[in-house]
Amino acid sequence: MNLSRFCAAAPLLFAPLMVFAEQAPVIAIDVGHYRENPGAISARGIPEFEFNAALARSIGEALASAGTRPLPIGADGNMVHLHARARAARAGGASFFLAVHHDSAQPHFLEPWEWQGVPRQYTDRFSGFSLFVSRKNPKLEASLRCASRIGAALIMQGLQPTPHHAETIRGESKPWADRENGVYYYDNLVVLKMAAMPAVLLEAGVIINRREEELLQTPEMRATIAKAVQRGLSECGATR
Ligand SMILES: [Zn+2]
Repeated sequence: MNLSRFCAAAPLLFAPLMVFAEQAPVIAIDVGHYRENPGAISARGIPEFEFNAALARSIGEALASAGTRPLPIGADGNMVHLHARARAARAGGASFFLAVHHDSAQPHFLEPWEWQGVPRQYTDRFSGFSLFVSRKNPKLEASLRCASRIGAALIMQGLQPTPHHAETIRGESKPWADRENGVYYYDNLVVLKMAAMPAVLLEAGVIINRREEELLQTPEMRATIAKAVQRGLSECGATR
């Protein structure tokens, strides 16, 4: 094959595709926490950051295969400053901000157990996903619409929201924004209130729960959650 001829023709052949890709909406996928301060610790001692990074990758793949451009933020584990995350989303032209996290519980619920000879802490009392939006985000209406659609899509896949953040105890007491779909208000969450675009934080599940931790580590569960997030974002208009 005459390669020079093929290469000369290539830009023309792929031009429509490239224009489409450039116009595709950018969705920021923020990997919660960083290596030095990795968030919650699972019942078996795995840092939350590792769960967040793996799920964020799956969500990025699901979004890319549906024609949007994922913009990973903090994926290398070195993004120490919270304010830098919203700035990176804006600089990257993101039209939506999704923070990916995994959940724990208040310390007084934790009980000791041993895993592979190492003392650990767990509670099996709570399970399920939750979603958060901030009333201080300038695009609250779109944030809430998308959080609700993501929650509904997760429920369609057989997952359940956890009500434990609404309990009137110290550290919780979050008001419901959409109880049916597992969405709470969390006004002062930095990444949500600093984002210039609609923003949602997803707690994909409770990793201090021994059974749920195992489920959340499977590629199948990550793919299920990722697909539901993609569907929810599509239904709320974030990917158009
Ligand atoms: Zn977290």
